[in-house]
Amino acid sequence: MNYDEFYRRSIDQPELFWAEQARLIHWDTPPQQILDQSHPPFRRWFVGGTTNLCYNAVDRHLAERADQLALVAISTETGITREFSYRQLHGEVNTFAAVLQSLGVGKGDRVVIYLPNIAEAVFAMLACARIGAIHSVVFGGFAAHNLALRIDDAQPKLLIAADAGMRGGKVIPYKPLVDAALNEASAPPPHVLMINRGLAPSLSYQAGRDIDYAPLHQAHLGREVPVTWLESNEPSYLLYTSGTTGKPKGVQRDVGGYAVAMALSIRHVFDIAPGQVMFSTSDVGWAVGHSYNVYGPLIGGATSLLYEGLPTQPDPGIWWRLCERYRVRTMFSSPTAIRVLKKQDESWLRQADLSRLKWLFLAGEPLDEPTAQWITDALGVPVIDNYWQTETGWPAITLMPGLDLKTVKFGSPGLPAPGYRMKVIDESHGREVPAGVKGVLVFEPPLPPGCLTTVWGDDARYIRSYFSHFKELLYSSLDWAIRDEDGYTFILGRTDDVINVAGHRLGTREIEESVASHPAVAEAAVIGMRDELKGQVPIVFATLKQDAGDGTGAVAKAMQQRVVDQLGGVAKPSRIYVVNTLPKTRSGKLLRRSLQALAEQRDPGDLSTLDDPAALDDIRRALERGPDQGS
Ligand code: AMP
Repeated sequence: MNYDEFYRRSIDQPELFWAEQARLIHWDTPPQQILDQSHPPFRRWFVGGTTNLCYNAVDRHLAERADQLALVAISTETGITREFSYRQLHGEVNTFAAVLQSLGVGKGDRVVIYLPNIAEAVFAMLACARIGAIHSVVFGGFAAHNLALRIDDAQPKLLIAADAGMRGGKVIPYKPLVDAALNEASAPPPHVLMINRGLAPSLSYQAGRDIDYAPLHQAHLGREVPVTWLESNEPSYLLYTSGTTGKPKGVQRDVGGYAVAMALSIRHVFDIAPGQVMFSTSDVGWAVGHSYNVYGPLIGGATSLLYEGLPTQPDPGIWWRLCERYRVRTMFSSPTAIRVLKKQDESWLRQADLSRLKWLFLAGEPLDEPTAQWITDALGVPVIDNYWQTETGWPAITLMPGLDLKTVKFGSPGLPAPGYRMKVIDESHGREVPAGVKGVLVFEPPLPPGCLTTVWGDDARYIRSYFSHFKELLYSSLDWAIRDEDGYTFILGRTDDVINVAGHRLGTREIEESVASHPAVAEAAVIGMRDELKGQVPIVFATLKQDAGDGTGAVAKAMQQRVVDQLGGVAKPSRIYVVNTLPKTRSGKLLRRSLQALAEQRDPGDLSTLDDPAALDDIRRALERGPDQGS
């Protein structure tokens, strides 16, 4: 079937279409109803069906591919590569599940996983899925405050952490961040299960709370833990993401719908059949990591490569050598990573035999044309941009070479994926805009299987955040978009105060709160500034409670450090300007867009609502003078 037919069927006959797709996975009890949309914008897919993500990702393959590689965890930081067949993966996951049970974790309990990109992260996720516990993976690059926020919202029974991660040869201790987060959290879990990689120089354990995984692993080796069958709509996992408020949202996913979306997309979007190899360079802490390092390839019976390290170390040829060594068919990465490689000598690409590589998918941020062109020429394979959000869990706009390859148009991720009733509408009157006119990208409910089902513990926030922007009930992506005559969509950036740094979504509000928590700071405004490598970087404008005189630089440096300590290196402001006033409206609303325009040397736009025109001159002077921290 070609893309056009496939997509049309998913929209015109959704129940028939998804009933067919549901056969791609194993159900313990088949669904009784394909779609229940009696309470929009909520919807329930595959109602009454019972299944299990771990069973579909692991057990199901034992009959046919027990000795095939399931997971290859490569660390160019430690120099260690670990390979696991489906049989071995089954063993590790069962052992991990037994350990979880021994610590009192059961169905419906939340487990926060704070690990680097190592095999144990995959075992832990699948072990949770096996016993019906709800995992919430927190990206290892996030620091204590971010971790504490997520712990308090999820109220986990257990935290699984590592002694340390590594980046660019440097050990990044996790345990002190864990301790700080648990101190800050008001709902700390009773236990921390520690994966000790032997990287951190000295580890202090809190007696009774912190438990080493290694002896428990030994004690439970060989144990088999029966699968807990879950109703399709029960929660499988949470993944927190930034929004316009300082409090991250727990994107909640279901079991059956997600499994079906994974089975469909790994096959028809990513063109991976059982036995083939997929290399996603993402981190398990992100949506791509969940879907295309763990659940997608494993549900699809493929081999998944997991990578801890930089794309340039030990040298810029490393990813391509891995593609050759493991006969990678589909690679998945981010535009930022490719821009990093573009700065290196192109000959690194030619040193590896890439004859097996068929596709490179890139997602998470806009893919600029020069980067797309460079990597297409260098690799000699189609480069497929795909658009998605943590909320969607799988591509919403993409080409689907697993069905047929439509024309690649640089700058556009392409066409809507199955089940996405996409529209580009006018912000003010909510009607669809014609081709070539900018509007807001929305999806008409019901959202397809795989997308979020709600915000954890807060149905009202789910409705408020996503479905309350227009008169009609529509899911707002909060992205601007434009469609061309052929229906190809071009993404033009966010409509809200979210910025995208190297493919990582950050709320400007979170960074502002962190900066403003410094005792010397009166107020802070954060904007995302264009950056050649990372797409955008955070820039801070801050006012102080008292004049710091010659010490302004030191205060600015301390603000930057505070963000790194509280939120993590991903959020590090690249420049900090200390100013006298921030531009605000008469009602006291911060004029971020004017700040942004000034920083980018553009016209600040309509200033009729500006309270104090002198504020803009102050910002201009600061920009001319240069930052107080950063360069
Ligand atoms: P996240 O939830 O962190 O994956 O961030 C999702 C946001 O990243 C989207 O709302 C877009 O603003 C941006 N994004 C993701 N994929 C693309 C893409 N292919 N092109 C342009 N922007 C993208």
